[in-house]
Amino acid sequence: MPATTPMFRQYRSIKERHRDAIVMFRMGDFYEMFHDDALTAARTLQITLTTRGKGTASEAPMCGVPFHAADAYIAKLTQAGFKVAICEQTEDPSQAKGLVRREVVRVVTPGTVTDARHLEAGEPNSLGAVRRDGGRLGMAWVDLSTGDFRVCTLDGEDPPGRAADLLERFNCRELLLPEGEEPALPGLKSVLVSRREGWRFGTDRAREALTRHLGTSHLAGFGVEEMDAALGAAGALLEYLAETQKSSLAHIDRLRRLDEGEHLLLDGTTLRNLEILRTQREGKRRGSLLGLLDRTVTGMGGRLLKERITHPLRDPQRIRLRLSEVADLAEKGAVRAALRQALGDVADLERLLARLTLGTASPRDLRSLGASLAALSPLQEQAQAVAAEPLRRRLAELDPVPEAAELIARAVGDEPPASVRDGGVIRDGFDAHLDELRRMGRDGKSFLAALEGREREATGIASLKVRFNRVFGYFIEVSKANVGRVPSRYTRKQTLAGAERYVTPELKEMEEKILTAQERSLAREAELFEDVRGEVLTHARRLRDAAAQVARIDVAAALADVAARGGWCAPEVHDGDGIRIEGGRHPVVEEAVGRDRFVPNDVHLDGAGRQIQIITGPNMGGKSTLLRQTGLAVLLAQAGSMVPAARASIGVADRIFCRVGASDSLAEGHSTFMVEMTETANILHHATPRSLVLLDEIGRGTATFDGLSIAWAVVEHLHETPAVAARTLFATHYHELTELALVLPRVVNLRITAREHEGRIVFLHRLEEGAADQSYGIQVAALAGVPREVVDRAREILMNLEAEAVGRDGRPKLARHAAGDGPGQMALFAGRAEPPRLGGMAASLARERAGVRETPPVLPATPARAPAEDEALAALRAVRPEALTPLEALQLLDGLSRRLRGGGGAVLHSEGGERDETARPPRLSPKTPPAGS
Ligand code: ATP
Repeated sequence: MPATTPMFRQYRSIKERHRDAIVMFRMGDFYEMFHDDALTAARTLQITLTTRGKGTASEAPMCGVPFHAADAYIAKLTQAGFKVAICEQTEDPSQAKGLVRREVVRVVTPGTVTDARHLEAGEPNSLGAVRRDGGRLGMAWVDLSTGDFRVCTLDGEDPPGRAADLLERFNCRELLLPEGEEPALPGLKSVLVSRREGWRFGTDRAREALTRHLGTSHLAGFGVEEMDAALGAAGALLEYLAETQKSSLAHIDRLRRLDEGEHLLLDGTTLRNLEILRTQREGKRRGSLLGLLDRTVTGMGGRLLKERITHPLRDPQRIRLRLSEVADLAEKGAVRAALRQALGDVADLERLLARLTLGTASPRDLRSLGASLAALSPLQEQAQAVAAEPLRRRLAELDPVPEAAELIARAVGDEPPASVRDGGVIRDGFDAHLDELRRMGRDGKSFLAALEGREREATGIASLKVRFNRVFGYFIEVSKANVGRVPSRYTRKQTLAGAERYVTPELKEMEEKILTAQERSLAREAELFEDVRGEVLTHARRLRDAAAQVARIDVAAALADVAARGGWCAPEVHDGDGIRIEGGRHPVVEEAVGRDRFVPNDVHLDGAGRQIQIITGPNMGGKSTLLRQTGLAVLLAQAGSMVPAARASIGVADRIFCRVGASDSLAEGHSTFMVEMTETANILHHATPRSLVLLDEIGRGTATFDGLSIAWAVVEHLHETPAVAARTLFATHYHELTELALVLPRVVNLRITAREHEGRIVFLHRLEEGAADQSYGIQVAALAGVPREVVDRAREILMNLEAEAVGRDGRPKLARHAAGDGPGQMALFAGRAEPPRLGGMAASLARERAGVRETPPVLPATPARAPAEDEALAALRAVRPEALTPLEALQLLDGLSRRLRGGGGAVLHSEGGERDETARPPRLSPKTPPAGS
């Protein structure tokens, strides 16, 4: 656009106020974008880039989209993370003197999308804000598409991490942060961050704005009075919404606080490891717990279910109430089916109401609101059939807001167009004025014919005609011969060769009516639509309450449906510390392997004798599955769901930690092991006796002994430190850990069984008391298709390793050579070559407990050495490696090894070995034990 034109100046002044947005500038039937906005939009929308003012000094790149298809383009831009400022012509171009006035009427941003077509039904879409307050974080988020507005204060453990978890859970698409004092939040990759001046997050300012908006004198009623930082964030949100939406925000009519203390805490890692919202490998909803549970029928039900699953309760009383609804419906198939069928006719009331408030609702939205309200009656009818008190009341007292439903039914046609602009929204008979305008449009011709007839009769001029032309509009034409009979009320307009043309006040009035009837009927419809909308919105609060009740009914029916189909049981939920699950199953794995093939298992944890359970068993045996199914049962029970088990009694947990050693979830810049240890540290700092800790192969991400030592120490700590004595399931391949049960009274060993049959492994998946004796890792490798030679060779190495694991004197190779250790000294961690026995660290601990403090249960810093070792060391020092052939080196090693094992043998001997020892790479250890051992 040439820089000199007035329109360009208008554009520039608008663009200046919306630098961070793509400005869509309305020009007739198009929205046009210029300069950088055009480049970005053309690339993102894949539309043609052209040039405005070509050849002039101020050529500018330009692209455009037709206004009637703009919604889809706007959605595409916001999905790509851009803000879009929609600049409309705000006066009628035909009336404008000079340049048409234009204004930005709305800014659509990723966090403020409300168009149902571009939102996922079961997911919130929020705009968040976070402010720091010393070590604490105050945060707020709002879902403009539903009006849900929350605040939360985070202090204590890792506020940024928890803030990020919450933002993810509430699907925060955009985040407001105070410029210059931004809290560092992890993992905000898919979030558009808008930086705003710090003062916009001020608490006083926020209090004032919030009380004004919510129409209250103070905030105490919302229980948020002291949440300074969070309120500051909430104020910043409100201001941002007012700025971008430029419309009523009346549907945001309450502020709720999220109190983490009321909920079973599930951090992001636990959610991921338990595959609650998404599968771990593919990140899909299908195959996750939510994917399995989500049999909700309405959008608000879907969103509520997600929230219940990510924020289960802690209070047994409240849990029991929810559970009673689900259990009742699970028993009553017919009632459940009737409810679910009726719910099928209820649209997303929350989102409809939001669009209605924001002024973006279409006639179809209004119609759909009316139809949804009408569909609430069949729900009410089911009330008598329900026994659970809260649900019965919910159904009986469901408010179908008849005033709104009736008004909509009366006003809006059955199949209204998508836009009010198209007309035909309001029913005939609703408004006399509209009816007349419509009639006028339709019957214009017959009106004129009637007028013509009347005038002929009144004047006696049979040839009188009513005619039309563009210049004069409607007129009466009388031939020259009859001019004498024209009455005085006719006004002459034009004289032709053979005729005169006249108008009358009545004709002019009719002309006005006919010509503008169409236009005016459209305008009247828009007016009436606005009236109906306004009238419906006077019931906004009741509508919102109805929506909330529908969501709860939907969730109860969905959970009941899953439970009934899956044969789940209603758990007993209590404040005790016992978790007892009989015949527990993993709901998702069970689906995958088939109900009849899944082996149910019993789990019993408590704070007394069964606090920590070490689970061993073959690879693929089902250890991870068991851990997760236990976590899921506790989570489901506390969410108010039934659980996949024959019987369950759940002592509520304050938190579930589920950690998987060396999992693939590589956080930026950290090794898997580092992540594993950070998470372990977190558990050791924050677990409580009420927590449920699920550790799956923690420690495996590093060298065996380091890992084993860490695992051992972690269990000890969880056992010995009262503050963190959480109920724990620990799955491991370190069989040495099973020795802990011998010395720590609240540690129990469990094993998952398998059998070897003709060299192949048969998984029984059955959990029983005791420690497993082998891992069957090699059999599993064979099952997985590892080449036969490799499997055979692995078997051979394993045998050698096992043969070498214990020395000739019965002393394990990992022996702790402490002062005073004589022959028969046990291993640091006893090997698997022998049945579990009181060995190594366990033995030492047992002695320590018995008051025999002969050695600390750790490797002494300077161990005393046996004479053989001194000899061996001396021999090593004397060696000149460069002077040795590989064979000699091997022989040297062999000699040293024998000496250390007490087998004697020359330290340096040079008899030739067999040739094939060099032809093949040295074995990890000889195939057959060396002579003398
Ligand atoms: P690894 O030690 O290799 O990690 P694991 O012992 O943790 O193995 P899981 O991953 O829990 O084993 O289970 C492996 C597979 O075994 C599951 O994907 C499932 O197909 C099957 N499985 C597990 N538990 C059961 C069960 N109780 N009944 C039937 N099949 C099961």
